[in-house]
Amino acid sequence: MSVSTAATDRSVSAPLPVLGRDVTVPLVTGGEVTYAALDYAASAPALQRVWDDVAAYAPYYGSVHRGAGYLSQLSTDLFENARRTVAAFLDCRPADQVVFTRSTTDSLNLLARALPADCRVFVFETEHHASLLPWREAQVTYVDAPRTPEQAVATLERALADREPHGPALVCVTGASNVTGELWPVRRLAAAAHAHGARIVLDAAQLAPHHPVSVRDLDVDWVAFSGHKLYAPFGAGVLAGRADWLREAEPYLAGGGASRRVSRRTDGGVDVEWHEGAARHEAGSPNVIGAYAIASACKALTEAGFDTLVAREQHLIRTVREGLAEVPEVSVLSLFGDDAPRVGVVSFVVAGWNSSHFAAALSAEYGIGVRDGLFCAHPLVRTLLGSDPETQGECGAPEAAPGEKSLNAVRVSFGAGT
Ligand code: PLP
Repeated sequence: MSVSTAATDRSVSAPLPVLGRDVTVPLVTGGEVTYAALDYAASAPALQRVWDDVAAYAPYYGSVHRGAGYLSQLSTDLFENARRTVAAFLDCRPADQVVFTRSTTDSLNLLARALPADCRVFVFETEHHASLLPWREAQVTYVDAPRTPEQAVATLERALADREPHGPALVCVTGASNVTGELWPVRRLAAAAHAHGARIVLDAAQLAPHHPVSVRDLDVDWVAFSGHKLYAPFGAGVLAGRADWLREAEPYLAGGGASRRVSRRTDGGVDVEWHEGAARHEAGSPNVIGAYAIASACKALTEAGFDTLVAREQHLIRTVREGLAEVPEVSVLSLFGDDAPRVGVVSFVVAGWNSSHFAAALSAEYGIGVRDGLFCAHPLVRTLLGSDPETQGECGAPEAAPGEKSLNAVRVSFGAGT
């Protein structure tokens, strides 16, 4: 395939896979094509099985936990079963808690609010902003970008060993990068965290859709992920893991559902007794359909079998990377090197092209939907591009002059779930 824009005479040959979806779009250059959505890392298309399950449930849904009626009882059962399905999907420990949230971002913000007051947080500067930003500035240590998985473990160990005083600590780490697709050495990082008396939360937003995530096997304390990246629709996410810090924390949201008993005091105030389980952090009417959809996606992926999904996806990854390697203008971004194990996320720059223009041309002229920018991981992308933090924005970055470095990148992302 040769990519060019109507506005310029530049072109580049860029072979990309077309995971066809049954949506036809018009092209700027005329004609129509089957649209190829290659932006799974942002949001993966929901599985038909998930839509079907949600549609089958739709006539029966009712408010959970508080109603005596049949539909309310049924919905409560489905909601609590969804929790059990997610716990099984994540291979949680028996005492772990599954809290339904809005997204990975929401899950990590919830955990950030539940930390002991003197807890220090360690996070690699290469993380997605959802992992980088929820923590109070005074409590967080940003760990420099490693260039190998071994360096990641060693750097984290040094940072943890150096901490003073030696109080509670949390490490927050991604399982798979949303920029490079590279897998992080989660099990080794968890072992390092625990050896230094710290806990660890895994941002599995990009890992869970591609690989089995076992809380027990990885020995992580919490896992966060989003339904909309796991082939379910938008609006629901998960924080699963240890109950103690969550039980001791103030509720994430104050309101009905989180409160067990509320009474007026004689001095005019109000006393509240909060729930201790997952409900403590799920105030308000929860997103039952979102939770149900996540559980449906978990079941669908489990039934499809991760061995099959991983094999199919690795084939796609090879196809994309080998194709891109044949294009002299293309440089693929990588932190750990070309041979690092990865999921279906490939970011690249094209010499002489502004990445936003390149992505726009793929959409308008070929019906291929990718993403451009810094992918909510600004420090990482700037490190990979070797660019100056002062000179660029998320999207629509100024065009690099011929011979200059690109200021943003193009990202192609896909999975074998659909
Ligand atoms: N973590 C990673 C690695 C991500 O890629 C993303 C989203 O792209 C998030 C967290 C945030 O997910 P959400 O937008 O669903 O909260």
